Amino acid sequence: MSRFFSKKYSGLVAYTPGEQPKDMKYIKLNTNESPFPPHPAITAAVKAESARLNLYSDPECTPLVAASAELFGVKNDEILMTNGSDEILNFAFMAFCDKEHPIVFPDITYGFYSVFAELNGIPYEEIPLTDSLEISVDDYVGIGKNIVIANPNAPTGIALSLADIEKIVKSNPDNVVIIDEAYVDFGAQSAISLIPKYGNLLVTGTFSKSRSLAGGRLGFGIGSSELIADLNTIKYSTNPYNVNRMTMIAGYQAILHNDYFMDNCKIIEKNREWTKGRLLELGFELTDSKANFLFARSPLISGEELYLQLKARGILIRHFSKLRIADYNRITIGTATEMKTLVDEIENILKEIKK
Ligand SMILES: *Cc1c(COP(=O)(O)O)cnc(C)c1O
Repeated sequence: MSRFFSKKYSGLVAYTPGEQPKDMKYIKLNTNESPFPPHPAITAAVKAESARLNLYSDPECTPLVAASAELFGVKNDEILMTNGSDEILNFAFMAFCDKEHPIVFPDITYGFYSVFAELNGIPYEEIPLTDSLEISVDDYVGIGKNIVIANPNAPTGIALSLADIEKIVKSNPDNVVIIDEAYVDFGAQSAISLIPKYGNLLVTGTFSKSRSLAGGRLGFGIGSSELIADLNTIKYSTNPYNVNRMTMIAGYQAILHNDYFMDNCKIIEKNREWTKGRLLELGFELTDSKANFLFARSPLISGEELYLQLKARGILIRHFSKLRIADYNRITIGTATEMKTLVDEIENILKEIKK
């Protein structure tokens, strides 16, 4: 740390992204990317758009917003596009939280929430998941604080029903409830339909997971026009051109070819259930994941050991050192071939242990 670094950030512990090692070619099941390439129309449109990089991008993302609003059944002024959904989450923390308006979230969830709270000097409280790693809805009913919940939750993959989300939103009318739907397309219910009823609900989404655009960095927030106006104030005070030209056109084409991506999600779901079945046969214990990953532990091998042994065999999965979940690993769902290789290697590792 230099002697110039502001004291307000000196204690900040930054988010640790999943590793992207370059030493060899791995089967990457560690950062919840899609194994499927973007639709070819995206690649072509991005290439053509690159000839216009001398011009600033449209700060209002006009065609992308219009196409997305139509797809999600909301009005144009109820949606804001951002540089990944990490940006809309940070904007929401900046816009709606402060010392008088703290935020709560589960103790086991997306690691960025506590980082955004620390970064912005916002007090926060972590509400423990139940022993079976589920969100206990009653803990949030009428809590009277801002709330952020990933649905499905990460890294457990467990989803809440729309009725449970509504209970939480309805019972906290004077607080903003953020529902982070990064994984909603893999089998959970979106809360977007509740937006006309509740002015305190902000739903965030991303093109990174279900729409194969993790490297493009495109996310969005959907909420009442008043919430979106506030978030725009933050955006225009940070970076009006937060979505670059090539990403904007990629996102637009992704919406036009939404069926391609939703079909891919169905394949991922199928591969998830197949992998889950095989891991159960191998004695693993798994959560009921509705995301593009599984969360699994084995009584035969520690989470860290399995992670290390798979890495040595060219397969990356994600291990978290947080004590409550240190026995587990989060395994991204890839192609059927990748999942077969994974299961075969796990079987080999377990056989060696039993010897
Ligand atoms: C991946 C992820 C995000 C953010 O993804 P972006 O790539 O920034 O859009 C947000 N929330 C959760 C729970 C995630 O897993």
